[in-house]
Amino acid sequence: MTYSEVELAFDAGQVRSPLGRTVWSLELSLDETLALVPGVPSDLPRRPDVLVIGGGIQGLAAAKACEESGMVVVLIEAGSRLALGSSGRAAGSLCPELHFETDGAEFVDLARQSLRIYSEWLVGSSCLRRLPWLVLDPSAYLSGNLPPGACLLSRSETQACEPHVVARRAVWIPRQGHVNPLRAASWLASQLAHTATGLGALSLRLHRGRLAAVRTTQGDFWPKHVIVASGGYGMPVGGRTAVFRKGHLLATGEAPFRLSSVIAAEGGNVTQLPTGKLVTGGGASAATSREVCEHDVALSLQRLARLIPSAASIPVDVTWTCFRPAAVDGRAVVGRVEELSDVLVTQGHERTGLTIAPAVGRLLASMILKPGTAAPRCFLPPKLALP
Ligand SMILES: Cc1cc2nc3c(=O)[nH]c(=O)nc-3n(C[C@H](O)[C@H](O)[C@H](O)COP(=O)(O)OP(=O)(O)OC[C@H]3O[C@@H](n4cnc5c(N)ncnc54)[C@H](O)[C@@H]3O)c2cc1C
Repeated sequence: MTYSEVELAFDAGQVRSPLGRTVWSLELSLDETLALVPGVPSDLPRRPDVLVIGGGIQGLAAAKACEESGMVVVLIEAGSRLALGSSGRAAGSLCPELHFETDGAEFVDLARQSLRIYSEWLVGSSCLRRLPWLVLDPSAYLSGNLPPGACLLSRSETQACEPHVVARRAVWIPRQGHVNPLRAASWLASQLAHTATGLGALSLRLHRGRLAAVRTTQGDFWPKHVIVASGGYGMPVGGRTAVFRKGHLLATGEAPFRLSSVIAAEGGNVTQLPTGKLVTGGGASAATSREVCEHDVALSLQRLARLIPSAASIPVDVTWTCFRPAAVDGRAVVGRVEELSDVLVTQGHERTGLTIAPAVGRLLASMILKPGTAAPRCFLPPKLALP
């Protein structure tokens, strides 16, 4: 029999091992940490309904959605821990209503669904908080198109709402969200039947335009369907050029005040954790070094002091970096590979992979179960130059 192979790269070093310990890992219990390192269980089914490649938030959510639809699912992660890349190192912001201007109505709908699904999936985990957001000095678009339940605040109203924050005006948006992204990943992983770490997919083996097998670092799998959720690696990005945008985050020590909302501002958000620590940062550079850049951290601190002057004297606790996986054309790549109907892709989510992971997971599950289901136009379809 003649086979052809689609290679799946997975190790460029930088994305799986950026530097700086995150505040999220410091918050995890031993059991939560252990759920992220299953290793390679000896009883992994080799012929599952679905093999998910990639243990970031997209892969975990897709696996969870497929499993709850009754499919036998195996998730494999090349790294030594689940959510090792940007998924376990992101800011954890979930604000669907802020995406109208940049990402459009379809995206916002998926982000709203995701917030609802997170509430179901993470019940009992204490990692999802439903919080109001305060958008400082909002764009003309947001001020003129207020989300449901939101209100525009003057300078004095803003100050009454958040006494430590400085802004000319603000938009207050009720019931958005925030997660500890690593705890969310651990919680989802603990609900999955079959996960493995330290197990990388090497290639998809094809026969007559169909998936025949998946070659991995630990033998072959013969799944009915594959979901490629490998961030910016593998194919790469559904056949489109991948780029990685480096960002930085920091957590301060405990602040001597309490914020009642997530503070959103040009360049990054400020979120107060239940411990009183402030998490902030952002940036998107083309740098490829794994190190934390002190200059970028200093810029975030300056912005924090401008937005919340009383935060200026709080010492920094931890700083870390990570890389957003993106398709060079901008939008994320989600859907079924046209020429290879048993392979689906969710990649290149850049800034919003956490925000829409659950809804994308359910979309992919329904694409498998109901082959006529189409992906929304806010995503790019995967394009593969097959051998
Ligand atoms: C500073 C910063 C802050 C952010 N804040 C937010 C935020 O507040 N809200 C939000 O929604 N998004 C945020 N993001 C973006 C978010 O982190 C990403 O969009 C999201 O994590 C992407 O998830 P993913 O699962 O697609 O990719 P990844 O997290 O990169 O996971 C992909 C996984 O696949 C594995 N893999 C790759 N190839 C293979 C292979 N061949 N075999 C097996 N495994 C493989 C990788 O090792 C990796 O673990 C932020 C990003 C950064 C950098």
